[in-house]
Amino acid sequence: MSKVATQNKMEAIEMKRDVYQMVINGERVDSESKETFTTYNPATGKPLAQVAKATTADAERAVEAARNAFDNGKWKKYPVNKRARVMNKIASIMRSRFNELVELEVLNSGKSLVAAQGQVMQSIEDFEFYAGAIVGHRGTVNNMPGGFFNYSQNEPVGVCAQIIPWNYPMMMAAWKIAPAIAVGCSVVIKPASLTPLTAIVLTEICHEAGVPEGVVNIVPGPGALIGDYLVENPNVDKVAFTGSTPTGKDIMQKASQTLKRLTLELGGKSPNLVFEDADIDGAVAGSLFGIFYNTGQSCEARSRLYVHEDIYDEFMEKFVEKTKQLKLGDPLDKGTHLGSIVSRGQLEVIDGYVKSAIEEGATVVTGGEELKLEGFEDGHWYAPTIITDVTPDMKVVREEIFGPVVVVQKFKDEKEAIKQANDTEFGLGSAIWTKDQGRATRVANQIQAGIVMVNCPFSAFPGTPFGGYKQSGFGRELCIETLDLYTEQKSILSYYGSKPVNPFGV
Ligand code: NAD
Repeated sequence: MSKVATQNKMEAIEMKRDVYQMVINGERVDSESKETFTTYNPATGKPLAQVAKATTADAERAVEAARNAFDNGKWKKYPVNKRARVMNKIASIMRSRFNELVELEVLNSGKSLVAAQGQVMQSIEDFEFYAGAIVGHRGTVNNMPGGFFNYSQNEPVGVCAQIIPWNYPMMMAAWKIAPAIAVGCSVVIKPASLTPLTAIVLTEICHEAGVPEGVVNIVPGPGALIGDYLVENPNVDKVAFTGSTPTGKDIMQKASQTLKRLTLELGGKSPNLVFEDADIDGAVAGSLFGIFYNTGQSCEARSRLYVHEDIYDEFMEKFVEKTKQLKLGDPLDKGTHLGSIVSRGQLEVIDGYVKSAIEEGATVVTGGEELKLEGFEDGHWYAPTIITDVTPDMKVVREEIFGPVVVVQKFKDEKEAIKQANDTEFGLGSAIWTKDQGRATRVANQIQAGIVMVNCPFSAFPGTPFGGYKQSGFGRELCIETLDLYTEQKSILSYYGSKPVNPFGV
């Protein structure tokens, strides 16, 4: 059984403020209804702060501010180097407040300190990456018949509604804000109601760094009300959404009414293939991280593990043993591997999936239960769980669980491994463990997923394209090409011939 915590560093922390306001047009403001909602620390279950609860009137104000900033403001007209300078300033303020941001992320999400450190660092690097990338984001000059000249330029798409989930609250905000403002867009962000705090602080930092009023606005509030309102608002030009596949489908349908530009980063059920020639210890370590990082609450969690039958017993013995060694406990303790689940509701979803597997005849090898940790009795904790004896049609194999639960199956050859890997409606991540580079390339080429990790536990760094095939969405974030998703390409065709052209000849 996983170790339990015996101390609670969280109790020693005092929140810097009791109320987190919205940011609209460069100002921190209350909701026009004056209503707030409570945001919690999922590790302790205790209230953390009050957050302004946006109404549709607030969302309207935010869209108007963004529209005005885009249509009449100076941000998109800045020379690109000046925008890059502000982006670097955002990154340097974040660096100087690193520990504070990490702590706030841990308190609001329940994730482990080490996970939050990595994610806040990546958020900083996202701003640095796009500060550099935007300088090189050039148009084209195209070959033309004599006398004609054509060039294209990239123009910002306009006002962007950016709707983000709770699993990586700051990193998702950075993935969205950085490329959008780099090209000159204005944004209205809708954070997840469970975890709004770091996105609010990031918005404040953008202003401190010199982003003009109205360019970055944030409206925390219920997704079905505020998210929906933003998606349907005719003054919004683009929606960038990260969240579940059902919500993504709903958004796609609604966005079609005004033909908005759309990026969808949705759910996943990523396969993890361990071949018979893999470095077994490396594959065990990588597979462990692949599913249990962020307490399994990752869109790219490698939640379907497939192991070659020849090494299955050896691999599983080590994998189960290492899983039992994972430490759950005070998320602020740097030795903690897994933090809490984000909410009671999410914990119940996870437990429901595990129970359904048992009812369908699967075996829970380890975990499969809620944990009560000393000092964190009211928090939401779930044991890292391994399930075997599953069949491809079971719910736990087909649906995204979004928790620390992995299902394990065997395969007998490469062909079967690829078939099993692709037997899903999703297509976000995937991993391959083999020492044979030829096999790695062959298998990677046949996997229907946006990301393939070869002998590698990590899915992304700033600069690497991140996004899905099939029902995991479309569009790629975190890379240079993301800038194209926030711009329109305008083609300018001129004629410089010495005689005017007379196509009708009359
Ligand atoms: P969710 O779809 O419930 O919510 C995501 C966001 O959408 C929240 O801000 C929510 O308030 C808002 N929302 C809810 N209903 C809405 C509606 N009708 N219209 C507009 N907005 C609405 O997802 P979640 O539970 O917060 O996050 C978990 C999901 O996110 C998982 O499926 C996970 O795979 C996915 N995810 C994907 C990626 C990726 O890059 N592909 C990254 C992180 C998370």
